[in-house]
Amino acid sequence: MSNIHVIDHPLVQHKLTLMRRKDASTNSFRRLLGELATLMAYEVTRDMPLQDIEIETPLETMTGKVIDGKKLVLVSILRAGNGFLDGMLNVVPGARVGHIGLYRDPESLQAVEYYFKMPSGMNERDVIVVDPMLATGNSASAALTRLKQTEPRSIKFVCLLAAPEGIAKLQQAHPDVPIYTAAIDRQLNSHGYILPGLGDAGDRIFGTK
Ligand code: URA
Repeated sequence: MSNIHVIDHPLVQHKLTLMRRKDASTNSFRRLLGELATLMAYEVTRDMPLQDIEIETPLETMTGKVIDGKKLVLVSILRAGNGFLDGMLNVVPGARVGHIGLYRDPESLQAVEYYFKMPSGMNERDVIVVDPMLATGNSASAALTRLKQTEPRSIKFVCLLAAPEGIAKLQQAHPDVPIYTAAIDRQLNSHGYILPGLGDAGDRIFGTK
């Protein structure tokens, strides 16, 4: 599989296993997701472009490096993507945040947009799209198609778990978008849940079940 990055750092793998356990409380699930998002943000931003600037230390003038260009945009696919945001913002606190809300039409089974809000100047910004679960890939693919209408400088997609079916869908529809994940699981079940997975990420983050 090309363009897919599995973040196999031991801390990421350890925390992911703790989250998967069915007896993890809402509190610990949410906390672990935040910690994982922080660790993953570190890897995902590894190749961000830098520019040189002149600064003065207390002793002399030097050339330092800072992140180049306009502020990064983190885009959350509602609602589970929001569970990722705070952890990523720990590492990139100046990032702008966009939201995409989609629901699946029960008849056509197509993703329908109900919310879309992005910062200005998208054509000068790099975007990281976050959604913990890449399952069928239908909503992620629709979200990327919509996002591309704003012509961002670059797009990356970050999830916690990916199913092979979702990876195939996304790579076919958006081969230009690299995928970052903590694990590639076995398959989807007949309801579109990832196996072995961790259940419904939104329900586990927000305690709605
Ligand atoms: N969304 C989830 O929250 N969990 C899955 O397993 C699949 C999609």
